[in-house]
Amino acid sequence: MLDLSKYTKELIKLFSSSENILLICHINPDGDAIGSQLALYHYLTAKGYKVGMMTPNYLQDFLKWMDGVDQINIYIKDRKICRKLIGEADLIVMLDFNQANRLGEAEDLVVKSNAKKILIDHHLDPQDFADLTISEPSKCSTAELLHELICEIDQTQFMNKPYAEALYVGIITDTGNFEHGSYTSRTFRIVADLLESGVDKARVLNLIYNNYSVNRTRLQGYALNKRMVILSEYFTAYIFLTKDDLKEYNHVKGDTEGFVNLPLAIKGVLFSALFIEKDGFIKLSFRSKGEFPSNEFASKYFNGGGHLNASGGEYSDTMENTINYFLKVLKENVWRFEDKM
Ligand code: 5GP
Ligand code: MN
Repeated sequence: MLDLSKYTKELIKLFSSSENILLICHINPDGDAIGSQLALYHYLTAKGYKVGMMTPNYLQDFLKWMDGVDQINIYIKDRKICRKLIGEADLIVMLDFNQANRLGEAEDLVVKSNAKKILIDHHLDPQDFADLTISEPSKCSTAELLHELICEIDQTQFMNKPYAEALYVGIITDTGNFEHGSYTSRTFRIVADLLESGVDKARVLNLIYNNYSVNRTRLQGYALNKRMVILSEYFTAYIFLTKDDLKEYNHVKGDTEGFVNLPLAIKGVLFSALFIEKDGFIKLSFRSKGEFPSNEFASKYFNGGGHLNASGGEYSDTMENTINYFLKVLKENVWRFEDKM
C-alpha cells in the first residue's frame, strides 16, 4: 500500500506555522480541482485556520452549487483581491496540477511569492516549483490523495458533510463516475466513508451530470453524427468542431467537455481525439483505452501532456492542417495499438 506517512511531519509543520493559507487550483478547473480545493478548505477552516481560495479563471456551472464556492476568488475577475491574497499568504497549497503554467495569469506572482508552497497532485512528471511536492499518480484523483494525507496528519478521522461532498465530487468527476481512471479498492473504501457521512449520492450525481443545456446536448448529437471520423485501421476515432459549428449551437465554455470520451464506447476504438478550433490554434484532447500512452503522444506531437489515458495539447495551425498532421503522426504510432489488440 502507498505510504504517505513520509509527508506527515513536513505537512504538519507547514500548516501549523502558517497564519494565512491560500489554496489554488488549475485554470479551467474541473470537479477534482474544485472538489479537492473545497475539501481542504473545509478541513482547514474547521481546524481554525484562516484560509483563502483562488482559481485562475471561471468555474463551470455544474460546480457552482458546491458548499464554499462563494468563497473562491477568480483571478481574471478579481485581480486586486487575488494579488492581495497571494501577497499576504505565508503558505500556498496548489491542487490538481503539476505545471506552473496551469496557474494562468497568476503564474508569476504565485511562483515568485515568498510564501511556502505545497503541491498536491496526481498527474505524471511534476515540475519542481513547490517547497513540498506530493505527487502520487497512482491516485484516481487529487481528492482521494488529499483525504489520505489528511488521515495521516489528523488522527481524529475528520469528516463533515461539505468536506465529504467535495471529496465525492472530485472522485466521481475524475473517474467518470467510476468508469475510467486509476480508482482502486481503496477508493471504494473512502467512498463508503463519504456516503456514510451523509453525502446524498443521487442529489450530487444529478447536480453534476444532469445539468446540460439543450444546446450542449444538440451539439453532442451533431458532433457524433457529422463530425466524428472513425479510422478503424488505426483503432482511432476523432471528432472535430470548428468555430462555426460551436457558434451554430451557441456554445458556452465547457459544452464540449466529455465529448472526447464518447468514441471510446465504440468496439475496436482504443484512442480518441477531439479537435476544437480556437483563435489561431486548435485545442486537442486525447483519451485512450488500455496501454496506449496518450500523454506521451500529446507531449511528443502537441506540446501537451496529462495522464496515460487522458491528456491534451495544442497545435497552432488550421483545423485541416492539424488533422493532417495528426493523421501523419498517428500512422507512425499505429504499431503500438496492433501490439495491444
Ligand atoms: P481534457 O481533455 O479534459 O481537457 O484534459 C485531460 C487532461 O489532459 C488534463 O487533466 C490535463 O492533465 C491534460 N491536459 C489537457 N490539456 C493539456 C495541455 O495543453 N497541456 C498539458 N500539459 N496537459 C494538458
Ligand atoms: Mn484530478
